[in-house]
Amino acid sequence: MKRYLLRLYPELPLCVDDATVIPATALRGALAEALLASCVQSHQHDTGPCSPNCRYWTLFGEGTESRIGPAYAGSGDDTFPLLATARTCSRVPGFKGAGGHGVFDVAIREYVFEVAATHPERILSPYNPACPVCVMPVVPWTGIAVKRAEREFTMLGNVATPVVSHHAAFSRVRRQPVRDYAINAKLVQGGTRYTARLLLPDQAEATLRQAIGSGLWIGANRHRGYGALRAELLPDEQVPEDIRERIKAFNRAIRAERRFYSAMTGGTAALSPASLDEGEWYFTLDMSVPALVDLAAGPSMIPALSALPSVEVVRAWIAPRVEGGWHAAAGLPRRTQPGVSGVALYRVSAESNRAAVDEVLAFLEDSGIGMARERGYGAIKICDPLHLWIEAV
Ligand SMILES: [Zn+2]
Ligand SMILES: [Zn+2]
Repeated sequence: MKRYLLRLYPELPLCVDDATVIPATALRGALAEALLASCVQSHQHDTGPCSPNCRYWTLFGEGTESRIGPAYAGSGDDTFPLLATARTCSRVPGFKGAGGHGVFDVAIREYVFEVAATHPERILSPYNPACPVCVMPVVPWTGIAVKRAEREFTMLGNVATPVVSHHAAFSRVRRQPVRDYAINAKLVQGGTRYTARLLLPDQAEATLRQAIGSGLWIGANRHRGYGALRAELLPDEQVPEDIRERIKAFNRAIRAERRFYSAMTGGTAALSPASLDEGEWYFTLDMSVPALVDLAAGPSMIPALSALPSVEVVRAWIAPRVEGGWHAAAGLPRRTQPGVSGVALYRVSAESNRAAVDEVLAFLEDSGIGMARERGYGAIKICDPLHLWIEAV
């Protein structure tokens, strides 16, 4: 498997609800459509490839585990959605580099404070989710961040202007227009492109490059010319930080925070220096794209991680979502399903087998959680480095 960037350059207005992101499901559908264009007409690919040269099968055949992420709008490749634990100043919101008072993550700080708050009277300076610059309260900060330089980000602003075109259906019998209707589209501003991260089988690169050579179609009203994008596939040079290193850094930050409160409270039972090094540790499950929860497995919207019995959820910042959409190939709406996005914090008991838990987490990060993973739902990250954005509070 190899990592790729897929860059998409809009050439015509797009008929989409949200011009800042092309969901993984929609992107996958567009790629499948491009691959199917050279396939044997009306062949049902769930029975196997249509021919020895089947392009579709190279990426989406049985046993191939292509991973396709959402494509985010931006001027560069490094754009990403902020997690549910991101906060910013309510008076002057935004990144410091972009003129705001700063953006912070509260996953670690909020949890450790709440544990410490069993003896609030002993805490000399209680956790105060306030802006360090102007002391105004902080508010959640959602949206898509664009990396400008090391530790310098801006928020993705408005990327498109609405365009409305009017159309009429003509009655041949009555020889007059019978119905007029408007198409609402979005004209993406010049200089904006979309970037998605893909993980593909080694042999898929040439096939996909050929298939996308004449572009991709996204959104509705393609027959009227909307939604054409030029596409470019290139290797992703960015090496993601190792999952074990991320878990280590996350737990270092949690321990430092706990020592701080432990020192302030004179060592309460929950936070005594002894309990700090008992061997228990933590990780977050970060869901920036929705996961479809299997409610048959239980009534909770927080992933239960049944493969890890020694692990329990201790805090969650999650938002329910209803996922529906349109099945382009079938021409039918998809069933709506309950989904969830956000951050869940888990504690791992000291008795657990560290290596075994690590292995399961690496597997979850690779394969995702919940249902409809093949459609791009349920991609997760463990201990996103965004949680380490705490020093400024
Ligand atoms: Zn085929
Ligand atoms: Zn402020």
